[in-house]
Formats: sequence, C-alpha cells, structure tokens
Amino acid sequence: MNIYGIKREDLENYFLNMNEKKFKALQVFEWLYDKKVKSFYEMTNIKKELQETLDHDFSFKMIKIEKKQEDKGVKKYLFRLFDDNFVEAVLMEHDYGLSICVSSEVGCNMGCAFCESGRLKKVRDLGSYEMVEQILLVEADIKKRISSVVIMGIGEPLDNYTNVMDFIKIINDPKGIAIGARHITLSTCGIVPKLKDLMEESLQINLAISLHAPNTELRDKIMPINRAYKLDLLMATIKEYIEKTNRRVTIEYVMLDGVNDSEAHANELASLLRGLNVYVNLIPYNETNHIEFKRAGKEQIMKFYDTLKKRGINVTIRKEFGSKIDAACGQLRSKEVKA
Ligand code: SAH
Repeated sequence: MNIYGIKREDLENYFLNMNEKKFKALQVFEWLYDKKVKSFYEMTNIKKELQETLDHDFSFKMIKIEKKQEDKGVKKYLFRLFDDNFVEAVLMEHDYGLSICVSSEVGCNMGCAFCESGRLKKVRDLGSYEMVEQILLVEADIKKRISSVVIMGIGEPLDNYTNVMDFIKIINDPKGIAIGARHITLSTCGIVPKLKDLMEESLQINLAISLHAPNTELRDKIMPINRAYKLDLLMATIKEYIEKTNRRVTIEYVMLDGVNDSEAHANELASLLRGLNVYVNLIPYNETNHIEFKRAGKEQIMKFYDTLKKRGINVTIRKEFGSKIDAACGQLRSKEVKA
C-alpha cells in the first residue's frame, strides 16, 4: 500500500495489531506531512526494526509531474501515473489563498454532453494516495501551502466513493495536510444513493451539485445521469442533504448558448430552487475543439444573473481561470492521450 493513501486511524490500527503504541501513527504522520521525509529510515524516533517493517509494508511511490502550463497566475499540471495514465490538476490564486482543483478518476463515465473529460471513458479510479500526491507535488513545486481543495477535476468523485472519502479524511487531518473541511468542496453530477451516504458522514465539507438544467427533459439531453436519477429525486435529495447537514449547497450551472441560458430557463431555475438554502454559481462554458456547444454571451449571462437575483436567488458568476492553457475540464489530458 502507498503510505500517502493511509488514514491516521488505519495506521493506528496497523500499529495496534503489531502490539505497538498507536501514537506511532501520529509520529509517522508528522514525518510525512510536516517534515516531509521520503523514507521510513529518516524517521529517527522510530526504531530500526519497525522502520524495516514499515518499509516492507508501505511504498512512497509518487506520481510524476509530466507537464506544466501557466497563464496569469493559473498553473495547470499534467501528472503521469505509475501505469502511464494521465490526470490533471489546476492551481488558482484567489485573494483568500491558493486553491487546487484535483482529479478523482482517470476519465469519467458520466458522459455529460458538453464535457471534455467524459469523452474519454473511465479507465480506472484514482487511489486516495494519487489524489493526496497531486496536492503534495504541487505544494512542493510552488513551495507554498495550498489552503483549499476542490474535487472538480477529471472524474465523478461519488463514482469513486471510498477512495475519495479516504482522501478527504487524510487532507482534512490536522496532522495530515490539514485543510479545513470548509475549505474542501466536492462537486458531483448527482449520484443520488451516494449523496445519501455522503450526508451520513457528518463531514463539514462543501457540496456542489452540477445541475446545468432547470427541468428534467433538458437535463436528460445533456446529462445522462438524469436518466438514472431524475431531477425531482435529485432535488428532494438535496433538500434532505441540507436539512441533515445544515450546510448551504452550491448549484453549478454552466451557461450553454441557446441550450439552457434563456430568461425562461432562469425563471424555471428560480422556481425550482425557491426556499432552498443554496447559491447558484453560473459558469461561463469553456469551449473545446471537439464539442458543438458554445459559450453563452456575456449579456445573456448577465440577464440570467439578474433574473435569478430579482427572484431572490443567491447567485454569483464564476471568475474565469485558465481557459488559454487548456485548464478547463480535462482538456490537457485529452490532448496528451491523443498525442
Ligand atoms: N463530475 C463532477 C466533477 C467534475 S466536473 C461533476 O459533475 O460535478 C466539474 C464541473 O465542470 C461540473 O460542473 C461540470 O459540469 C463542469 N464542466 C465540464 N465541462 C465544462 C466546460 N467545458 N466548461 C465549463 N464547465 C464545465
């Protein structure tokens, strides 16, 4: 097993099973995430035999940075995995700190019509260590701490549930990467049974739902997941999620020209969301070479925004990052795979 994919409580159990004290797990975590050593033999407060056992049981193997692109403070990383698959992450600078968008799978099976990642089917899930290492490698590259994480890169995180939960627990651990739960956002197209599991985890993370359509007919057309879990059911589940967790949920809505961006759509969306503790994030669509969808015009987006506002819906327009460097949603990997 890779050491960066182990939660502290699992490491505690590992030590307890060997009749060692469980605080050894804390010591190992400090070496890994604070002092950042790359071998058990550098962990000088751990005795030789135990170092050897650890070295036998766990690996330090890291994914590798294959390529970096940069534009206006946005850095895009392409990673090569040990089996020569690729995933990507994007680093963004906000006024509140650095945030990273990480991938959760190699490819994606959700097949959203407008999304580049979904053109390449899922090859496999990422292990929790491969998600943790995206952060470790980028932090090492920039020599700065990252303060927030969005799970919004390639993949559907709820389709890789166990590994993503482990990942969240490792980065949220105050002795791990120590990113506060409220600085972690999970974005999903809405796999209903997994959303039900998620609301039982009692994590204080942020949830973002990729809604993208205000009615079920349109959502069916652009997001195949809607055929399995209908919009009514998704909305009822979001309501339940909010009641159970007491957290405000983000509704993502990508603005597609002539598809979902009319004033009628805005009104329909406002009615759908009325009374729910949500806020809407309007996302200017990043056009790709391969897909027929076009970005809605600035004015259209503003009109949509105004309509929602007038109807009392909390709404923001997503600041744009990195469209020049293929930072949008799976474009870099897509190019690399083709090449
Ligand atoms: N599978 C998850 C997370 C990855 S996609 C989800 O569906 O939420 C992250 C977000 O980017 C989703 O809202 C997705 O719909 C959106 N997206 C995909 N392609 C895009 C593009 N070309 N431009 C803008 N947003 C896009």
